[in-house]
Amino acid sequence: MTALPLVFDAPRRTKPPRHLADLTREEARAAVTELGQPAFRADQLARHFYAGVTDPAQMTDLPAAVREDLTTALLPGLLTPVRHQSADGGRTRKTLWRLHDGALVESVLMRYPERATVCISSQAGCGMACPFCATGQSGLTRNLSAAEIIGQAVAAAAAMANGEIPGGPGRLSNVVFMGMGEPLANYARVRKTLDALLTPAPHGLGLAQRSVTVSTVGLVPAIRKLTEEGLNVTLAVSLHAPDDELRDTLVPINTRWNVGEVLGAADDFARRTGRRYSVEYALIRDVNDQPFRADLLGKLLAKRLAHVNLIPLNPTPGSKWDASPLPAQQEFVARLRAAGVPTTVRDTRGSDIDGACGQLAAADQVDGVPSIAVPVPGTDLPGTDLPGTDLSGTGGAGVEEGVALGAESDQG
Ligand code: SAH
Repeated sequence: MTALPLVFDAPRRTKPPRHLADLTREEARAAVTELGQPAFRADQLARHFYAGVTDPAQMTDLPAAVREDLTTALLPGLLTPVRHQSADGGRTRKTLWRLHDGALVESVLMRYPERATVCISSQAGCGMACPFCATGQSGLTRNLSAAEIIGQAVAAAAAMANGEIPGGPGRLSNVVFMGMGEPLANYARVRKTLDALLTPAPHGLGLAQRSVTVSTVGLVPAIRKLTEEGLNVTLAVSLHAPDDELRDTLVPINTRWNVGEVLGAADDFARRTGRRYSVEYALIRDVNDQPFRADLLGKLLAKRLAHVNLIPLNPTPGSKWDASPLPAQQEFVARLRAAGVPTTVRDTRGSDIDGACGQLAAADQVDGVPSIAVPVPGTDLPGTDLPGTDLSGTGGAGVEEGVALGAESDQG
């Protein structure tokens, strides 16, 4: 495992073409006026964008003569689907997108009986260098624009609405920033995305605040900034170790903001929103899954407004690490619960498509045919964002405080 440097500043590349979703409503109205059209056409375009309409021919409320020009100017296609891969009878679908400059990102749509969650990317690659994460090992290509991030959620909402996912037409209910990238390292664009997700239709996707989860390695100043925004989105902190010594190696940003500082910032977020934050913990065999670490974590979190979401490690290519065996997972859960910490384990879903947490590793190929996420031969890969499964055998699969990320909305 080679240690990678931490990278905060994304390389500057050619900007994506201007898109309505990057603009404020006023800016969009001004842009339309500049094109010689009445300002209200900006609202018409927004309605089409958030409804997932991409074909100008379907924008029948716009004069036929200007449809093409307006869409070219303000709704350029920023995300070109390269391929979809499905699992779980089609209910999990990963999409590889090519961006205007050839950069590749992935998003994963997961349909459940009670909700539909899309896991979106905020950066092409990632600069946080976590050694167990495929994206982290690929390095940072660039930040995504707001429109590129929002477009992933809009596409998922459209796929649900159009009945593309088995189960009939439905509604996208949840968004998790758990795809490629560190969302809080691309703060301004992610902030704009949050607005677009939360603004009621037709000017946004109209999601509930708690149904949107921002997951972070723990960029403390950005967590504090998010706290000041007054948004009640769900915060997830990727902890992965209760002690600084181990966390320094698993989540290298810990050398900048340690466990105490990260949890302190998350506590303040929880105090402001009145809602628990989620502590992400990938269980890695013989690395962070020992009973004494469960006890340490339990002690650390017992008095905090937090719940733990354990993720059996999804092995990535070239890694010497493996998921914790089931008995070790069960022991870990039992010890956390005994300490009074609400704990769930992410269920497995989406085998075979490398769509699970930490596996998104679309290669960046500017020219030529893009190649997709690194294959993981012969592994049975757990999926992301799943209902908590009770491994202790006492409670059954289920819905309780702290089901997997994005699920909180189902519990009100
Ligand atoms: N950068 C953000 C969000 C992206 S990853 C963050 O770190 O929170 C979403 C979650 O998947 C994080 O908790 C991350 O630590 C976890 N993850 C990364 N690689 C993983 C792997 N190989 N197995 C299981 N979880 C992994």
